[in-house]
Amino acid sequence: MTIVSPDQIPGPVVVLCAHPDDIDIHAGGTLARLVQAGTRVHCVLATSGNRGTADPTTTMEAIASIREAEQRAAAAALGVTDLTFLRHDDGDLIYDAKPLREELIRCIRTTRPRTVITHDPFPGNGSQDACSIYPDHLTVGATAFQAAFVCAPGPLFHPEHLTMGLTPHKPEAIYCIMSSQPDTVVDITPVWSQKWAAIEQHRSQGRHLPGMETFFRTIAREAGAIAGLGLAEGFRILLPT
Ligand SMILES: [Zn+2]
Repeated sequence: MTIVSPDQIPGPVVVLCAHPDDIDIHAGGTLARLVQAGTRVHCVLATSGNRGTADPTTTMEAIASIREAEQRAAAAALGVTDLTFLRHDDGDLIYDAKPLREELIRCIRTTRPRTVITHDPFPGNGSQDACSIYPDHLTVGATAFQAAFVCAPGPLFHPEHLTMGLTPHKPEAIYCIMSSQPDTVVDITPVWSQKWAAIEQHRSQGRHLPGMETFFRTIAREAGAIAGLGLAEGFRILLPT
């Protein structure tokens, strides 16, 4: 297990995730530390989680509006100011993979990240965390991997981007969240209060309820214990060939 400090994560950093709260739960502490270190961080949500409710009387539009407001508040808690919603429908990303790929390529060519944080496209056998094999997460992870390492560097993928002034670009590394085989941890002990402040904004998902802080702190403590740290977030790093 490698311990990485924020100044070893090259910026700019782009975070590509499926739903509101994915970023804050899995990488919020790392983002808070990156922002503190002066690294530019841009977060992109493929959906606004517009089916994330058990209430049959509400609408997808209403849920999206609530969850985008929660995500904006969470980003503010972490100090992240660049936040983009692509507004695909929650649960349907696998059917939107090609347009999503073009959007992610365009994002990478625009923001020119040296590091991408996204879902692990190969999270393991799924036995440890069923959330990691949820189709939206796998779709974003696989599409972000293609966009970053295969397409954004290749001028014949979406050559129309050149006419928009967007030239090819290849990030140096992908940091995967939700991996069952993390190989790297970031110490988030100093910024736990910021991470928790971000997570608890997601009230529509019950993240503010009693017991939640302890639940997420326990996950962070277990991730840290592997590396002799207090509280940590784990990642699996993919490097381009
Ligand atoms: Zn999610």
